[in-house]
Amino acid sequence: MKFAALEMHPLWPRIKGFLHVEPYGKDTSRKKVRHRIEFQEMPRELADKAVEQKVPCINCGRSISVVRARHGEGSLYYSPACPQTESLSCSRGRAASDEYESVVLRFCQCRWCRPMWGPTVKETR
Ligand SMILES: [Zn+2]
Ligand SMILES: [Zn+2]
Repeated sequence: MKFAALEMHPLWPRIKGFLHVEPYGKDTSRKKVRHRIEFQEMPRELADKAVEQKVPCINCGRSISVVRARHGEGSLYYSPACPQTESLSCSRGRAASDEYESVVLRFCQCRWCRPMWGPTVKETR
């Protein structure tokens, strides 16, 4: 059974416009760039709702928040599985990395994901 993915999130239609996939720290040995799945600043009320919304962990099905606020900053990011502090097998698991990759593939517009589009972003470290 497939548990919640980002596009099944009840608030997805409203938070979609804020999704921001950002490449960082290119791992040249594997010719693979790493990504963060973030959300740009959204209205306070919407941000609160998105963080409070619980959906099933993609690995174990436990009810969790997949849109999370980064400590201290308040910026939001996406994580499809239980936090590392709860379950390493969920956060480091195959289901979580597959979902993460598929969101990156669908929504990232960086020049490594979309080489035919030419450079569209600055490389960040
Ligand atoms: Zn889990
Ligand atoms: Zn990319």
